[in-house]
Amino acid sequence: MHYITSKSITLQEITQNTPEFDKAAAVASVYPFRLSPTYAALVRQPGDPLWRQCIPDVRELEDDGQLPDPLAEASLSPVPGLIHRYPDRAVLLVSNQCPVYCRFCMRKRHVGAGEAPLSGAALEQALAYIAATPAIRDVILSGGDPLMLDDSSLRHILGRLRAIAHVAIIRIGTRVPVTLPERVTAELCVLLKRFHPLYVNTHFNHPAEITATSAHACGLLADAGIPLGNQTVLLAGVNDRVETMAELMTRLLEIRVRPYYIHQMDLVRGTAHFRTPVTKGLEIVRGLRGFISGMAVPHYVIDLPDGKGKVALLPDDVEREGDMLILRNYRGERIAYRDSIPKTAQT
Ligand SMILES: *Cc1c(COP(=O)(O)O)cnc(C)c1O
Ligand code: SF4
Repeated sequence: MHYITSKSITLQEITQNTPEFDKAAAVASVYPFRLSPTYAALVRQPGDPLWRQCIPDVRELEDDGQLPDPLAEASLSPVPGLIHRYPDRAVLLVSNQCPVYCRFCMRKRHVGAGEAPLSGAALEQALAYIAATPAIRDVILSGGDPLMLDDSSLRHILGRLRAIAHVAIIRIGTRVPVTLPERVTAELCVLLKRFHPLYVNTHFNHPAEITATSAHACGLLADAGIPLGNQTVLLAGVNDRVETMAELMTRLLEIRVRPYYIHQMDLVRGTAHFRTPVTKGLEIVRGLRGFISGMAVPHYVIDLPDGKGKVALLPDDVEREGDMLILRNYRGERIAYRDSIPKTAQT
């Protein structure tokens, strides 16, 4: 199992002539820094929404009272590298590298740490667990970024999963279309399409991440028959405005990527400065539904602490008055809807 080699911009290069360098370097000694040239080229100035996502910030080292692994992923791992929380699906952590280390990453404890991808004995153990657990019908490759593995490693893992009859669906969670779009080659697409039904969920957080290059990468995947979803993390100072999210979601549809989730920030140590109140997320969902194509409106979810699972939240739009529902529409009008079935229609 091998990683692809990808170039990285140094912290010095990106923070030159700014007061950020020393501070950022201190943070990077705790939480690793990595930045692809492609993503770096999108950063326009210190503090902009893309800078915030990739440049270390001193607040990462503050004691924010949060835990490294609030979702208790480690305790939900029956074998190393596999998270089995829901009955019918499991997450396989095949990589601990990414082209860019996002400062808000929920797996901050894990990414960029150590060297080895899941391989050898650990991979065999994880595959054996999946093979011995017929309830698992959906396997999600995650990490780190699975597309940091080279083609032959990916082919090996996908081939082994496809050899397990009860694994119906394979998903890949990857930010590579955004952070290293050149990794999405024609050869990679030929490889991936051999393992259908295969889904890719990518991770765009800001409209400025949608470029000709990232759109092209998504187009290649879509042309390989891979349905594309998107998971966005709601981040203070990055995308916590209705207008930003509306633009992001509508433009994703234009590049054939269907918005899937907006994630409330997990309570992960070193990321508290990205958190927004839940009311902000609800305001955003309210600002999307009805105003833009329904296909562009993702679910807003909180992943509960201790591995209790994801819960989708909706603005409170339902009141009951007897057998009438009072429903609030996208314009804020309250409309009555009769919920009882007339006696004459009952048999
Ligand atoms: C999010 C998640 C999944 C997948 O959940 P879906 O709602 O099906 O996308 C599976 N396992 C774990 C541990 C997760 O965190
Ligand atoms: S690409 Fe995903 S796994 Fe990698 S650092 Fe960013 S959020 Fe974390």
